[in-house]
Amino acid sequence: MAERILVIGAGMAGLCLALALAPTGREIVLVERDAAPPQESADQAFFDWNRRGVGHLRHSHAFLARLRNLIKDNHPALLARLLEAGCREIGFADMLPERLKAEYRPSPGDADMAVLTSRRTTLEWVIRDYAETLANVSIVNSAIVRSLVIEVVEEGQLRVVGLKGEVAGEPAEWRADAVIDAGGKNSQAIEQLIEAGAVIGEECEDCGILYYTRHYRLLPGLDEPPRNKAPGTGDLGFIKYGLFPGDNRCFSVTLAVPEIEMALRQNVVRPEVFDRICAMFPGIAPWTDAARAEPISKVFGMGDLKSRWRSLVAADQRATLGFFAVGDSLIRTNPLYGRGCSFAAIEAYILRDVLEETADPAARARLYDARVKAELTPYFDDMRSQDRASVRRAKNVQDPAYVAPLRARVMTSFLNDGIRIALRSDVALMRAALRDFHMIEPPGVWLKRPGNLAKVLGVWAKGRRRNADLYPPSPGPGRGEMMRGLGLGAEPVAG
Ligand SMILES: Cc1cc2nc3c(=O)[nH]c(=O)nc-3n(C[C@H](O)[C@H](O)[C@H](O)COP(=O)(O)OP(=O)(O)OC[C@H]3O[C@@H](n4cnc5c(N)ncnc54)[C@H](O)[C@@H]3O)c2cc1C
Repeated sequence: MAERILVIGAGMAGLCLALALAPTGREIVLVERDAAPPQESADQAFFDWNRRGVGHLRHSHAFLARLRNLIKDNHPALLARLLEAGCREIGFADMLPERLKAEYRPSPGDADMAVLTSRRTTLEWVIRDYAETLANVSIVNSAIVRSLVIEVVEEGQLRVVGLKGEVAGEPAEWRADAVIDAGGKNSQAIEQLIEAGAVIGEECEDCGILYYTRHYRLLPGLDEPPRNKAPGTGDLGFIKYGLFPGDNRCFSVTLAVPEIEMALRQNVVRPEVFDRICAMFPGIAPWTDAARAEPISKVFGMGDLKSRWRSLVAADQRATLGFFAVGDSLIRTNPLYGRGCSFAAIEAYILRDVLEETADPAARARLYDARVKAELTPYFDDMRSQDRASVRRAKNVQDPAYVAPLRARVMTSFLNDGIRIALRSDVALMRAALRDFHMIEPPGVWLKRPGNLAKVLGVWAKGRRRNADLYPPSPGPGRGEMMRGLGLGAEPVAG
């Protein structure tokens, strides 16, 4: 008989699990606390879907190529539906700087280096709708899981056999061969296991930023502004920004503000301040200009962003049987890198392979843990070290007297005058680096290849003056200029 798998949550990880496991013939039941989405349109999902279970639902989202390709290869009909609903693919050629576009010749593999982007409500609405068409997948809506049903197999050995909770306020209990926690960052399932005696390790660190997103729609009859030389993303040390083209003539802008920028973070949530900041970035201003687009949302803010990794297999290799975690309940990452949904999908497909490979619950737990670590640790570590560097930089930017030590100056120059400028001068190098960005290849591998490193060093050695035409325009004002422009000092402005 086919195994019955219970999944806590029908968010991104729950849906990825449905996509990964349904074709194996297992019965997949997703237990979701929130109500089903409105069925009419992407706009209705955006404006009316009450999703208390996902606080970040209305923040900008994009799927990296790694996830987009998993969808394309395993569920091509879903990719078609996403595009039909208005989701956008930003391809390799679209991501090239203007001067490289002219000399670009497509190469095999380029077509699979596309970001899939739209409002998250649209992505989730379409994936959910598609998942429910899969024969052996069902979603129980308005059903909150209160606890795992745990058995003690022998001393120190736990097994999860089901879930208890409520459906529309009525008590409910579900039994299964395996339970997967896809309940997101606030899921309590792992806490319950720890209370029951499971040995679970955790590494956790602040990302050091807060996230602010506002959505806009192009005015009737107007198109997106022509791409100019100014980039749609930028990192000024005291603020980072990103433009996300969306579905159905929508787009969003996300600003990431370091935790220590108190005045900025307290004011950026005010729509007029958010829009004034957008007007200071040359790559964003033509989009948010009131003559071209109108806001369709308030400014959504989000804090408490963490990098967190939980290990469900103890040092003595013991693990709770019949239990797995996928998505943010297992690993949380800084949203800046746009990797959370790809992480969830990769974990879901690793779990599929493990469930197919062995029926032994202890072996399943160990294999899943080892393969997730092997695949995702390099990305996790890389993001965390970038976050630590950003936190240091944000602190230094606040101090006008700060002078970086020589080593730091050389490293910054290697990044800004070497790597970044070399990428802007060479399509092949850009292709190699974007494979890293899209999680097609582990972080940093491209730069270790001698040919690539030699090209970067060659560009760096030419120096700023001779490379002058390769530099992009300034991404925006300095800290003092922005603060003065906004009327912000060290303290937040009133009102
Ligand atoms: C601001 C922000 C921006 C991001 N941008 C990107 C991006 O651009 N690209 C990207 O790849 N990733 C992004 N991420 C990360 C990505 O959103 C998460 O990694 C992803 O949502 C994780 O999926 P999940 O299913 O684990 O959690 P969620 O998507 O949060 O889903 C959890 C689900 O479980 C349900 N649930 C929880 N508890 C219970 C319970 N007790 N009973 C029943 N149901 C329950 C919830 O209702 C919810 O539906 C971003 C994250 C944030 C915070």
